[in-house]
Amino acid sequence: MANAAPETLVIIGSGPAAWTAAIYAARADLSPLVFEGLPSREMIPGGQLMYTTEIENFPGFPEGVDGQELMERMKNQAVRFGTRVETDEIEAVDFSTYPYLLKPTYGEPVYARSVIVATGARANWLGLHNEERLARTGGGVSACAVCDGALPAFRGQVLGVVGGGDSAMEEATYLTKYASEVVIIHRRDEFRASKVMAQRALENPKIRVEWNSEVVEVLGDDFITGVRLRDTRTGEERELALGGLFIAIGHTPNTGFLKGQLDLHETGYIVTPSPWRTCTSVPGVFAAGDVMDSYYRQAITAAGTGCMAALEAERWLAHHGEAHAEPPVLETAEAPVQQDPLEV
Ligand code: NAP
Repeated sequence: MANAAPETLVIIGSGPAAWTAAIYAARADLSPLVFEGLPSREMIPGGQLMYTTEIENFPGFPEGVDGQELMERMKNQAVRFGTRVETDEIEAVDFSTYPYLLKPTYGEPVYARSVIVATGARANWLGLHNEERLARTGGGVSACAVCDGALPAFRGQVLGVVGGGDSAMEEATYLTKYASEVVIIHRRDEFRASKVMAQRALENPKIRVEWNSEVVEVLGDDFITGVRLRDTRTGEERELALGGLFIAIGHTPNTGFLKGQLDLHETGYIVTPSPWRTCTSVPGVFAAGDVMDSYYRQAITAAGTGCMAALEAERWLAHHGEAHAEPPVLETAEAPVQQDPLEV
């Protein structure tokens, strides 16, 4: 049985987008309820920043800030203004009924008048034991060159980038600002990346490519010292000394529980059809952060869209009346119609 009284606003997620949305919504007296998720092998509450160490590019922290500390601070700020937090995961939603129905893994189902989805995305990893361990302990393995590339530990080093897509090209090119050399490690003999980005990387004198190579082991105790590569054609193995490793093999948005409920791109990201808006294909449901942004993927942009989603939710609720004597007419799943909450 779902709780009788519907929540005004439920926020799903616990990264910078979710907490920023919660801060704005709580200060607007929407009394938001945040489902921050459950710790799992793939993700912990707090999102991707929980896996980084020093964050040097979040404005307001000239000395840098630890990723976990930043998330803790954002959460505390949201709670200070009255945000309620459930350590539980929404594993299913029903947006065909109104108020919307959200089903947590452990707790009772919850009804909500509006929802902000900020469940983020997760970087894909190779799945090697030492890769994950060193990534979590600041041991020179990362899935975000823009976040970590400028750290002192990587300066003047030979850095590896795994992948052959646009992200790998972009990250490799970016890292040449700090590295003595960047080695792209790709499992095939041609890149998937767009021609222009591949060419830019290949023409960079600081970049070379290990073609037909896959990383089978990450070497190093406290900090990476290199990788063991396997030739994908011959099976031969060899070691490559590295002072840092960046994994750029794509991201997966955390939208599995939304399939059939919201319009999603082929790649799984939530569709937000209006430029500079966070509204989705369902009225009163908004999306913020990496779950709707495959392009910028930064903590600060996620926080920005969290703010936008909270403002849009607030205005949407104000327009429809918080009491919702007249629930909005819901579109069918076959023909969702975008509703602009600001043009009411
Ligand atoms: P992507 O296009 O899916 O490329 C992933 C790359 O990682 C592929 O080269 C793939 O190899 C490799 N890979 C995947 N799993 C692997 C594994 N287990 N071991 C080794 N290699 C593995 O992902 P992306 O580069 O992150 O790009 C995602 C989307 O964002 C794309 O549409 C891209 O165009 C866009 N993007 C655009 C820009 C830009 O325009 N500035 C920048 C970044 C990303 P295979 O090729 O062998 O499959």
